[in-house]
Amino acid sequence: MANIAFVVARCAKTSGGFAIRFEKQADSSWLATRTTPLQEQATAREGYGATEVRGVMSIAPDYSGCPACKAKSYFQCGRCSRVNCWDGVTKTIECSWCGNSGPIEGSIKDLKGASDV
Ligand SMILES: [Zn+2]
Ligand SMILES: [Zn+2]
Repeated sequence: MANIAFVVARCAKTSGGFAIRFEKQADSSWLATRTTPLQEQATAREGYGATEVRGVMSIAPDYSGCPACKAKSYFQCGRCSRVNCWDGVTKTIECSWCGNSGPIEGSIKDLKGASDV
């Protein structure tokens, strides 16, 4: 199983695509370490979803944040299960993938990532 996964996300403010790099830790948790801006066609590319990011996820203290708005966290949409940036403060969010909006709730479960970008 790959120890690094990239999860495709979008900025909740600008809809700009980016990839979050997750690194698997010795205790099998996943740590979000940095982000890379993506072109829109890359976010739709087949192949994303190859690596499952399961279990405990946390964000590194030096996580580089959303490339577009510098938000230091992320959330997973409860409807489409895709990931958006999140500033960690806003209580009502709107998914830039499917337009669903609502309060932040629950915790992130399984993310689908790719082992390369
Ligand atoms: Zn953002
Ligand atoms: Zn959504």
